[in-house]
Amino acid sequence: KNFSDFKLNKQVLNAIVEAGYTSPTPIQKKAIPLVLSGHDVMGIAQTGTGKTAAFVLPLLMKLKYAQGQDPRALILAPTRELAIQINENIQKYATYLDLRFTAVYGGTGMKAQEEKLAEGIDILVATPGRFMDLYRKGVFGTKQIKTLAIDEADKMMDMGFMPQIRQILEIIPVKRQNLLFSATMSEIVENLSAEFLEFPEKVEV
Ligand code: AMP
Repeated sequence: KNFSDFKLNKQVLNAIVEAGYTSPTPIQKKAIPLVLSGHDVMGIAQTGTGKTAAFVLPLLMKLKYAQGQDPRALILAPTRELAIQINENIQKYATYLDLRFTAVYGGTGMKAQEEKLAEGIDILVATPGRFMDLYRKGVFGTKQIKTLAIDEADKMMDMGFMPQIRQILEIIPVKRQNLLFSATMSEIVENLSAEFLEFPEKVEV
């Protein structure tokens, strides 16, 4: 299977070529068609396997172009570093798309993040605490969120983010696509998966 076999649009395919990717990695081969078809997906893959593109590429396809004020996709990450890294990946793959995205995280002032969000946003990459802080300040609405991705779910659980994730699940629409990625499969990740995924397709590499 090649990138051109997926129903990805030309702009995304061009960005992939420019990134120097010749063929999809195993996790991408398995996950991209499932994410595109709208399934909830549970992916077990370590960093370095291409897991980020596995959920970001089909997400870009779904969102297509800038629309409205509030985020339509939320990607949760456990750390500032990972949030920034995911956002950089989006930047690379969305070069030829007209989409707005940013990463928000704690440990830094809210002002710049608020100003960026005020311009309107399509994809919000966030650490859970800062997401809730900005939401409580009324910086964005959550009603348009149609896709929720949680990256490094195992680390998220280890760091004690379950209460914040539960809060977030309460304020975003029930009808949405859920994507859960984790480096390892543990009981706690299994529980999280059972709590928030609906008939998930499981992919492992
Ligand atoms: P990740 O596992 O998402 O952290 O990705 C690890 C690295 O692999 C990143 O530097 C990506 O840019 C790169 N990468 C992702 N997909 C591919 C691919 N299909 N071919 C070559 N490199 C890739």
